[in-house]
Amino acid sequence: MNYFALTKKYTKTIVIAFTVILLTLSIIVPVYAGAQEDLENVQKELAELRKKQQELNGRLGDQKALSSKYGSEVYALNSEIQKMDLQVQEKSLVIDELNLQIQLLEQQIKDTITQIEITEGNIAKLQEETDARLADMYMETKSWDNSVNMMFASEGNGDFVKDGLYREAMQEDTNEKLDKLALAKDNLEKDKEKLENDKIKVEEDKTLLEEEKIALENDQTILAQKRNKFESMKRSADTAAAALAIEYETMSDEEKKLQAQLDLLKQQIFNEVGQIPSGDYVAEGTIIGYEGNTGVSTGNHLHFEYRMNNTYNNPCSVLPGKQLYNAYCGTSNPTLNTWPMSGNYWLTSGYRTPSRPTHNAIDISSGGSAAIIASHSGWIYYGNDGACSWYHGVYPCHGAGANYAIICQNKNCNTGIKTMYLHLR
Ligand SMILES: [Zn+2]
Repeated sequence: MNYFALTKKYTKTIVIAFTVILLTLSIIVPVYAGAQEDLENVQKELAELRKKQQELNGRLGDQKALSSKYGSEVYALNSEIQKMDLQVQEKSLVIDELNLQIQLLEQQIKDTITQIEITEGNIAKLQEETDARLADMYMETKSWDNSVNMMFASEGNGDFVKDGLYREAMQEDTNEKLDKLALAKDNLEKDKEKLENDKIKVEEDKTLLEEEKIALENDQTILAQKRNKFESMKRSADTAAAALAIEYETMSDEEKKLQAQLDLLKQQIFNEVGQIPSGDYVAEGTIIGYEGNTGVSTGNHLHFEYRMNNTYNNPCSVLPGKQLYNAYCGTSNPTLNTWPMSGNYWLTSGYRTPSRPTHNAIDISSGGSAAIIASHSGWIYYGNDGACSWYHGVYPCHGAGANYAIICQNKNCNTGIKTMYLHLR
């Protein structure tokens, strides 16, 4: 069969047929059994770890949510307490104002009492004068005869009569003054009464305000206690979250180790495909599949590995230079002449990066279903890593696992070029 003469139309059909055959073969070929078993064990361990990690992450999230919830409770309570502070302050100021009003009223009452006392003094004085005048008049009446005699005896002496009239007039004036003073005293008494009533009213207002203030302060104390409780709960949640974050971090380190081991075992599988059992051969440039999202994968991409004489090399060191969307990859002196994927794409993961030194591949992604191309001619082997049967971790897993193809330049894969194409549709 001349593979080189095949048109693209038939390639896909044949490739699918090969896939079926080779998938069957991959089950019965015993050379991979040891590594597969190891891989399954590590994968199981990893799945358990990821489950734990997910659980931890959930608990961490819960604690963070609690902390946030308690934090907003504390914030709301503090706002309320501050609002009440303002109310208490306002009431204190009004109480101060009322105290001043009371003082003022007390002074006014005192002044009014003084005025009443003065008025009473004046009244007493005038009454005394009147009494004295009445006593004089009484004495004069008793000596009236003598007076008349005197009046007639000493001719033209009108002083006595004048004195009497004057005294009468004076009494009238005194009476008038007395009336006025009595009225003034009455008014003052009324003022005093009004002031005293005002004072009682202000004092009542003050008592009411003081009671309100005390009630507010009590409410504030209760709120402050509630806030303190939430603050302490928040501290506990924060402490728990911090402890979980450390545990998660540790777990993450552990997962990195297992991930590395998984990478190593994948490498061993790649390694153990040392001999292509069937005679299936593809030419460089042939479409061997399509970019997919099978297995543990977060989106359509191709995981591409390269070996020469069983030694890994960075695909960017052997592929022809190519400007990808986000990076330049390749060399002016390439070993491979054909990129493993058609079109243009992003470099989503580099070869042996600091964050994943065991990633012996480049990941490239078009975001679609680009054609996957044999980057060199050779013997092809298809498989599936079966990851989804055991993987229940943090990343999604699609299908039975990742579909892959391995192409060896020579039927004995330990010599020459060997490439791996993972996550095929
Ligand atoms: Zn990869």
